[in-house]
Amino acid sequence: MAIVYVALGSNEGDKSAQLLQAVEEMKVFFNVRCLSTIIESDPQGLATSQAVFCNAVAEIETDLDPMQVLQKLLEIEEKMGRRMEEKGQGLPRSIDLDVLSYEDQVIDTTRLSVPHPRMTQRQFVLGPLAQINPNWVHPIEKKNVEELLNELGHEAY
Ligand code: ADP
Ligand code: MG
Repeated sequence: MAIVYVALGSNEGDKSAQLLQAVEEMKVFFNVRCLSTIIESDPQGLATSQAVFCNAVAEIETDLDPMQVLQKLLEIEEKMGRRMEEKGQGLPRSIDLDVLSYEDQVIDTTRLSVPHPRMTQRQFVLGPLAQINPNWVHPIEKKNVEELLNELGHEAY
């Protein structure tokens, strides 16, 4: 069994309801062990002109391999109505599910990068993750979540 952290985000529609619906959908495929609080954060990067985001992080346990986990998350996004043209465009999204980590594996393929390449710059990821497991060590940075958050200049939520 592998422990996997998943980032959930939404900035369109009933945002927190969609995060909770995505958690229910994840329960079909995974053992969902823990969910952070749902936080609100201002849009960043490509999305700066858009609505506020709701974000959360879930800890799941699974026998599936990393690509299979990604495939299930993409299926859930599709089932929940995420439009393919939203992909990679930084457009408003009903639901975005990203693999943050898969144990301490480092994966860098065209379809999947783990740990998620932008997680170390994102308070809205590290903050909720710190609620669940502040001691998880980033396999490339060799720092735990609390240290990564401190480097961003933020305390845990
Ligand atoms: P973003 O989450 O950066 O806004 P998208 O949700 O539009 O981007 O995802 C586009 C593609 O990113 C997915 O189809 C997937 O193949 C790829 N991808 C690469 N690494 C990951 C990861 N760790 N988690 C989720 N998707 C990933
Ligand atoms: Mg995504």
